[in-house]
Amino acid sequence: MGQDASPRARPVIEFRNVSLTYPGPPPVTALSAVNLLILPGDYVTIVGPSGSGKSTFLNVAGLLDGPTDGSYLLDGIDTSALSDVERSALRGRRIGFVFQAFHLLAHRSALANVMLASLYNGTPRAERRALAVSALTKVGLAHRIEALPSRLSGGERQRVAIARALVSRPALLLCDEPTGNLDSATAESVLSLFDVLHREGMTVLLITHDAGVASRGSRMVDIRDGRLTECRKAVA
Ligand code: ADP
Ligand code: MG
Repeated sequence: MGQDASPRARPVIEFRNVSLTYPGPPPVTALSAVNLLILPGDYVTIVGPSGSGKSTFLNVAGLLDGPTDGSYLLDGIDTSALSDVERSALRGRRIGFVFQAFHLLAHRSALANVMLASLYNGTPRAERRALAVSALTKVGLAHRIEALPSRLSGGERQRVAIARALVSRPALLLCDEPTGNLDSATAESVLSLFDVLHREGMTVLLITHDAGVASRGSRMVDIRDGRLTECRKAVA
């Protein structure tokens, strides 16, 4: 992609010539020599049609799958050298995931859903509760913390999921079609929340097939046949 690393900031994410070929048969090359640098505070969107390699890219970025060639660095750490345990620990510490389908536990309140995200990291319960309330307040749901997901709108559910992703103070928010299940008005409320988080310095990587959603990023990258191309954004 050719950007130079800023001397001020270590990249949050660095793809160095990453390729991923599924063994098949027949083998499918889903990522092809991908280079990408994401700096702290970037809001990068990756846009491409079905089958272009978005999920594969996200799986590598989220440490759910490893490249078959090249290397992937998260927070300056070359992840190919890590064991599975180290990889999961790094993922838990540094990445907050937001998915299209929310993935909330249906029989737990918004608060309990967000608190569960920090269950295994050794934080005392009272502190976990305070952090969860604060994350829910951040996403505009302070008044709904006791609600079950079934009593929340789609947009509110996604905001609970975003609070859950934020609670462990990740370096990176990794979002997979986060508005894919939402109508356009509700999608807008979620996209505005990403705008706020971005303004406050969060690093956001959002993957979508929707060019309108992708245009919200400060950098837009096109994916086709597993290859990335940086898009020029018109400056408003
Ligand atoms: P997208 O998320 O953009 O729809 P994917 O990353 O899911 O794209 O898929 C990219 C390509 O890799 C497609 O050709 C798809 O058929 C193929 N693919 C995805 N997962 C597998 C797999 N587990 N085994 C073999 N091929 C796969
Ligand atoms: Mg996909």
